[in-house]
Amino acid sequence: MTSQRSTRQRDEIARVIGAAQGPLTTAEVHERAQTALPGLGIATVYRTLKLLTEQRRIHPVLLDGETLYEASGRGHHHHFICRGCGQVFTLHTCPVQLPAGGALPGGFVVDAHEVTLYGQCPTCAAQSGAAHTISN
Ligand SMILES: [Zn+2]
Ligand SMILES: [Zn+2]
Repeated sequence: MTSQRSTRQRDEIARVIGAAQGPLTTAEVHERAQTALPGLGIATVYRTLKLLTEQRRIHPVLLDGETLYEASGRGHHHHFICRGCGQVFTLHTCPVQLPAGGALPGGFVVDAHEVTLYGQCPTCAAQSGAAHTISN
């Protein structure tokens, strides 16, 4: 493989991850990158994800025991997993309310948190009729 080709693969895989609405599984990255890179092998995807992680352009996210990848530098955010379609979305709203100073009863001082939300994405909510409730 020429270095030119691997640079193109690396850039395309980074682009696919950057353009996604949430973190992607290795299989999803493989599927989406194939549009621009026909014949792309899964082994190349694994290798490239490792390299991009080392370069800190992306980072792994562990959700429900699966490793997904997202672009770095997105700031504070949370993930939303749709129980309908299984897609993972990145939410930039924070549902966590901590007391001023971050001190919880019992003397625990909180300086960070991770929360994963579960439910239905807008598309699935519309299909199941949950959106009907919202529009009323
Ligand atoms: Zn959904
Ligand atoms: Zn938060």
